[in-house]
Amino acid sequence: STGKDHAAVPGRVRVAVRLRPRNAEESVADADFADCVELQPELKRLKLRKNNWDADTYEFDEVLTEFSSQKRVYEVVARPVVESVLDGYNGTIMAYGQTGTGKTYTLGRLGEEDNAARGIMVRAMEDILADVSLETDSVSVSYFQLYMETIQDLLDPANDNITIVEDPKTGDVSLPGASLVDIRDQRSFVELLRLGEAHRFAANTKLNTESSRSHAILMVHVRRFVKGRDPSLSSENGNHPHMVKSIKPPVVRKGKLVVVDLAGSERIDKSGFEGHTLEEAKSINLSLSALGKCINALAENSAHVPFRDSKLTRLLRDSFGEVTPFEVPWILDGNLGLKKLISTARTSLVITIGPSPRHRGETASTIMFGQRAM
Ligand code: ADP
Ligand code: MG
Repeated sequence: STGKDHAAVPGRVRVAVRLRPRNAEESVADADFADCVELQPELKRLKLRKNNWDADTYEFDEVLTEFSSQKRVYEVVARPVVESVLDGYNGTIMAYGQTGTGKTYTLGRLGEEDNAARGIMVRAMEDILADVSLETDSVSVSYFQLYMETIQDLLDPANDNITIVEDPKTGDVSLPGASLVDIRDQRSFVELLRLGEAHRFAANTKLNTESSRSHAILMVHVRRFVKGRDPSLSSENGNHPHMVKSIKPPVVRKGKLVVVDLAGSERIDKSGFEGHTLEEAKSINLSLSALGKCINALAENSAHVPFRDSKLTRLLRDSFGEVTPFEVPWILDGNLGLKKLISTARTSLVITIGPSPRHRGETASTIMFGQRAM
């Protein structure tokens, strides 16, 4: 899988692995044992120990160690995706891994107590707000969770049966029932993330489940006004009699950033559970395996990507595959200039792992998920 050109292959997923440091408990309990992995970040390699003498070696696009800063993680995992979104494409950033390995730390930390701890969502919005001009452009967000194939608004938790709508013409995926909040400054965005997190906690307590059982999804819509005409649109003279030649029509360029804090990937031992929890386990396994299948199909450039298999993959469809990055509101003739462009949409996956030898099995399965995506 090495040697693939990221920029040239549509649908190609960039995969980074991030190791979290030992926590206090592991430092004591596993003091006599080596970590189950050894990282070689310069070589972009990870070694997964088999025993004291032998290890399997894997390559990733990036290898982030327990010493990698949040800033560095943002730069390698998220910044290229955010830049694509600012250019009018759709992009996706996902974190996959066992509960407790740092998905939320990586994506969702607000970093108010410590500026350096800011996670990807906060840093992405900072970059977006720095680049847009709020007189002509707009930035708006939705924040929701997907639990057992049900979508609940995290900004308005009473709204817990949101449906996914796909535009048959453009392929755009939208959630007309979800709150869409205009963002004009960083502080109100952070406030909104905090509110969403509180609602997520409360909703999951009420359902008697844990937030690690649901996927949390942030969508950021960026609409930009572009002066003059975009060169990718067809020329203004010729067969368009309705158009006044001297008008420089406005072009709106829209991009969508989707950040997905996935449910914990740990295999839930089905024999240990009844009813509700078994259904939960099945539902998580369904959506994560559907996601895995779609990513694999994209990695193999397969003609058929099974997006329809779960709500998670239906939601991500227009952020993974083909997109229409330009919307031209002034068009008189439906055929004029609306070109379907093949996306250079970027998808970034960060797989998070812990160092404990006790969780070697889960760590191995997370590593394999990441490898199959490449
Ligand atoms: P997940 O969302 O995957 O369940 P969390 O993000 O909640 O995991 O992380 C679990 C714990 O580990 C938290 O206390 C978090 O602060 C800590 N942690 C995770 N990643 C790191 C890291 N890279 N550096 C320091 N602490 C981390
Ligand atoms: Mg979490």
